[in-house]
Amino acid sequence: QEKGQQPQGKQVGGKAGVTPKSEDFSRWFLDVVKFGELADYGPVRGTMVIRPWGYALWEALQQYLDQRFKETGHSNAYFPMLIPRSFVDKEASHVEGFAPELAIVTQGGGKELEEPLVIRPTSETIVNHMFSQWIQGYRDLPLMLNQWANVVRWELRTRPFLRTSEFLWQEGHCAFATAEEAEQEARNMLGIYCDFSTQMAAIPVVAGRKSAAESFAGAVSTYTIEAMMSDRRALQAGTSHNLGQNFAKAFDTTFLNQNGERQYVHQVSFGMSTRMIGGVIGVHGDDNGLQLPPQMAPVQIIFIPILKKGSDEAAVIGAVDRLAAAAKAAGIRTKVDADQSKSPGFRFNYWELKGVPLRVELGPRDVEQGLCILARRDRPGKEGKNSISMDEKAFVRDVQQALQDVQACMYEAALAFREANVVDVDSYDQLQSTIADGKWARGPWAGSSTDEKQIKDTTSATLRCIPFEQPEGLPRPCLLTGTSASEVAIFAKAY
Ligand code: AMP
Repeated sequence: QEKGQQPQGKQVGGKAGVTPKSEDFSRWFLDVVKFGELADYGPVRGTMVIRPWGYALWEALQQYLDQRFKETGHSNAYFPMLIPRSFVDKEASHVEGFAPELAIVTQGGGKELEEPLVIRPTSETIVNHMFSQWIQGYRDLPLMLNQWANVVRWELRTRPFLRTSEFLWQEGHCAFATAEEAEQEARNMLGIYCDFSTQMAAIPVVAGRKSAAESFAGAVSTYTIEAMMSDRRALQAGTSHNLGQNFAKAFDTTFLNQNGERQYVHQVSFGMSTRMIGGVIGVHGDDNGLQLPPQMAPVQIIFIPILKKGSDEAAVIGAVDRLAAAAKAAGIRTKVDADQSKSPGFRFNYWELKGVPLRVELGPRDVEQGLCILARRDRPGKEGKNSISMDEKAFVRDVQQALQDVQACMYEAALAFREANVVDVDSYDQLQSTIADGKWARGPWAGSSTDEKQIKDTTSATLRCIPFEQPEGLPRPCLLTGTSASEVAIFAKAY
C-alpha cells in the first residue's frame, strides 16, 4: 500500500490489505491503525500524529472520565510542562524510576540554561511544589485536581497508542488529611477506570494491586486494571497510586490539623492515557479492521445509499435522508456516505475498516418494499444482516436495540476470550508451560521481588496484578517457593 493511499476493495491477504491477525499481530495492529485512519507516525521516533478518527475516540474517553471526575469532587487545572530538574531529584525512588526516560531541555533562547528543565513525564513533583504553598490547614483539604495534558517518556520500544514517547492522558492529583481517605480515593478512581473500560470500551478488565516491583516509582501501592488483548498479551490500561506521604515529605507538603499539629498530607495520583485507544483496537479489531464499541464510536451508523442508473435516485436519497434525520434526532451518531464516485462495495469496506458498528444499505428496490438492510460490524457476512422497516419509529427502535446488542456482544466476546485464556496454575512448571502457550497464568503467590525477576528472566512474563477478587481455598503453597500464599497473582507477557 502506498503512503496515504486508500485501501481498495480488492482482497490482498486479508481484506483490503489488512494483514490477517493470525499471521502477524504486530503488522495487523499497524494496518488497522493505518487503514482506520487513526494515527500516523510523527517525524520524531516514537511520536504519533493522532488523526481525527483516533482523536474522536480520545474525546469519547475524555468526555466520560471528565464527567465522572467532576461528579466525584475533582476540578481541572493545568501545570507547566517544563519542570526544574532538581524537582524530579527530590523523591529518591521517583527519580530512580523515571531518570532513564526523561527528555531534558538544556537550552533556551540560544543560551545554555542555568538549570536543565525536564519535560514532564508525570507531574507529582511540580504538583507538590504548588500544593506545599496552597495547603496550610485542614480546611484546605481534601484538594482534588485533575489535569488533561501530554507527557513525554523516552520509551525505547514504541507502537502507536500502546506505547509512545509522547502521549495524552489525564493525571489526577489529590491530597488528603488521612491515610484512609487516600486509600479510598485510589480505589474509587480505579473503579471509574473499570467502569469506562467495561461500559464504554466493552473491554473486561482484571482490577488489582501491583507488586512492589511493578508499582509506580514513589508510590506506596499501585492499583491497576489489566486487559487481555486479542494476542493474549496483557495491557495495563489505567493505574491509580496511593502515594502515602512520600512526595509530601520530599516537598514538605504539610497542614495543621484540628489539634494544631503539623502533619504531612496523604496523596493519590491516577492516570489513563491514549494507550486505552490501543486497547480498543487490539481487543476488538479483526481481519476487516477496526471494530468500535457503539458507546465510543464517533459514527454509530453509516448510511450507504445504493443508486442504480435508470432508477428513482431521488427516492433513495430522500429515504436515506429521512431515516438519517430520525436517527440523529434520537441522539444516534449518524453519517451518510453518498459518494457516487465510489462503488457501494468500496464504501462498505471503508466504513468497516473504520469500525462503524452499524451500516444501512438502501437501494431502489428497498424503497419500493419499505425495508432496508441493517448490517452489524461485529457479525460479518449474511449472519449480521437484517431487513428492517423504514417506518421512522420502528427504524429508530431497531437501531437503538442493535446498538445495545452490539455493545453487549462485544463485551461478552472479549470476556469469553479472556476466560478461555486464563489458566490456574499451582507450580512453576505449569506457569512456564502456560506462558509458553501464550496464556495468562494465575496461581498462589508469596514470592519476593527477586523471585518475580526470576520468572521474568526465564519466561518474559511479569506479575500483572494481585486481583482484588480472590478465589476460595486460600492459603495454598506458593507456586514458586512453596511457602504459604494467601493470595493468587496473575502472570502474563505484557505490552
Ligand atoms: P503511570 O503514571 O506510569 O502509572 O501511567 C499511567 C498510565 O499511562 C499507565 O497505566 C498506562 O496505561 C499509561 N502509559 C504509561 N506509559 C505510556 C506510554 N509510553 N504510552 C502510552 N500510555 C502509557
